[in-house]
Amino acid sequence: MTPSQETRPAADGAAEPLIRVSGVQKYFGDHQVLHDIDLDVRAGEVVVLLGPSGSGKTTLCRCVNRLETIEGGTITVNGAPLPEEGRALARLRADVGMVFQSFNLFAHKSVLDNVTLGPMKVRGTARAEAEERARALLERVGLAGKASARPAQLSGGQQQRVAIARALAMEPKALLFDEPTSALDPEMINEVLDVMVSLADEGMTMLVVTHEMGFARRAADRVVFMDGGRIVESAPPEEFFGDPRTDRAKGFLSKVL
Ligand code: ADP
Repeated sequence: MTPSQETRPAADGAAEPLIRVSGVQKYFGDHQVLHDIDLDVRAGEVVVLLGPSGSGKTTLCRCVNRLETIEGGTITVNGAPLPEEGRALARLRADVGMVFQSFNLFAHKSVLDNVTLGPMKVRGTARAEAEERARALLERVGLAGKASARPAQLSGGQQQRVAIARALAMEPKALLFDEPTSALDPEMINEVLDVMVSLADEGMTMLVVTHEMGFARRAADRVVFMDGGRIVESAPPEEFFGDPRTDRAKGFLSKVL
């Protein structure tokens, strides 16, 4: 069985998705930006959210991490509803880590501190253990020599790889990526995508908002295409790219490919 086929048996014996989004409605003021969204992400699955700007991809991703509240429907992680606040919410965000377009590193902390602070605070990991793990993760993302640097001394691609190491340090069950390469110069995009592809190959559960079609083709188990706050298509990448079913997906692909 490949990692992407792994599923967690639920109490009733059925496969329970790691992340389940069910009938979600989201408004900003009077403006409904998510309409009745259903989306399951199984353990080990890589789901790429595609769609035109403004279609609700980022908002959906942020709802899963409870950076946005929802006005209808439910979101569960491992069968449990999202906690609303406090330590439980901090633990959710450790279990379901998020990598942002703008990195969001602590500017006045070293790279090493950026990676160790979360495990020490949220998981209660001892400093020595957190540092050992952080150094191993920095090596894994190709930044072994940068532990004592400040974020501003690094390129955008390096900062984003620190952000990925920081999320991994929490030993997450799943990672959300919100346009992780959109703020990067073209020559730095691949160094971040390579790390993401290796995570996907190792069986990390990932929900990824991106405009990188090459990544979607290569790493996604499933492409979910959104338009106007709705999920319009959901298919394996070869099917979505090779034979999109709707005119909206065809129109989108004709512009981006
Ligand atoms: P995408 O990620 O597909 O580009 P977004 O989720 O960013 O789409 O946005 C979906 C819609 O929600 C857009 O119409 C956007 O203008 C609106 N929106 C996003 N964030 C906010 C916000 N904080 N306040 C008000 N409207 C927002």
